[in-house]
Amino acid sequence: MEETRLLTDSREDLIYAANLIKSGKVVGIPTETVYGLGADASNPDAVKAVFAAKGRPADNPLIVHICSITTVKILAHDVPELFYRLAEKFWPGPLTMIVPKNKIVPYETSGGLETVGIRMPSHPVMRELIAMSGPIAAPSANISGYPSPTTAQHVLKDMNGKIPAIIDGGVCNFGVESTVICFDDRHTVRILRPGSITKEMLEEIADKVIVDSAIINDIQDGQKAMSPGMKYKHYSPAADVVIVEGDIESFCRFVGENNSDGCFCLVPDGDSEYRIPCSYRTYGADSRQQAHNLFARLRELDEMGARKVFVRPPSKDGVGLAVYNRLLRAAGFEVISL
Ligand code: AMP
Ligand code: MG
Repeated sequence: MEETRLLTDSREDLIYAANLIKSGKVVGIPTETVYGLGADASNPDAVKAVFAAKGRPADNPLIVHICSITTVKILAHDVPELFYRLAEKFWPGPLTMIVPKNKIVPYETSGGLETVGIRMPSHPVMRELIAMSGPIAAPSANISGYPSPTTAQHVLKDMNGKIPAIIDGGVCNFGVESTVICFDDRHTVRILRPGSITKEMLEEIADKVIVDSAIINDIQDGQKAMSPGMKYKHYSPAADVVIVEGDIESFCRFVGENNSDGCFCLVPDGDSEYRIPCSYRTYGADSRQQAHNLFARLRELDEMGARKVFVRPPSKDGVGLAVYNRLLRAAGFEVISL
């Protein structure tokens, strides 16, 4: 057990963090999506330490974070022209693109795959850090399976004593992880994980955008996941999360009939006008706010001792699809339609 130091975003602290990363250590890092656990992307032992700290299955690849477009050529080959057009539009920002990897990316980082997911984050602290340390491999900084962290305090709760340092860069702006895409062919993009860069936004650049079926359907036994992360239970608090679809009157009736000790509801802001017969929390008025708040609310509900959480889902378009996808996994695909 080592002591975990909370660092500021001062130049001095960032140099300290960059040196930790260069020497093969793991550091908690702020990004505009969620907090990450960062390590030198080219160092297999450093990357293994990330998997150990999280308890993450070894076949679930890490995203490599860069701060300059010229790094793409070092990490990957056969990069389609469409990749660069998307990068021009959406980088720096919450878009991860999967392409064939070069040898410099170890299999530890790629989860044994021949491909690598690359992203250029926009968070100024993260960019400054990468400029000093080189490409950083980073998954979300939660214990595997638990809701992603959106503050340095969330990271401290999950990682205290497991990593040497966490940089506090404030609350994450988007609150859900990046949109992950791969290329079916030179003109076609496939969304493997929805995020704040939506299908509609990608369609402004790509001829064709496919939403992979695993985004809202459970992977069946024997079915191969295009994105290994999709086959694991994810984002789950200790409480049992259940999505309840239907109008607000039916929802209130259902909750009234099924209310028990430790039961809470999580609802969009507008629903608080109705008489919900159970303790409840709200998670935002629109999809962007809901994305920003979702993981923090799930963590708060655990702290409040929730045992069951009935959730009124968001809309399923735009950024709402990202929120719905995280909720579905948090609920282990348990959906009740009224
Ligand atoms: P996290 O690190 O927790 O944000 O999760 C990263 C997500 O990106 C996981 O769902 C991975 O399965 C996915 N991912 C990263 N790299 C690849 C890759 N090379 N191929 C397919 N999926 C990837
Ligand atoms: Mg994660």
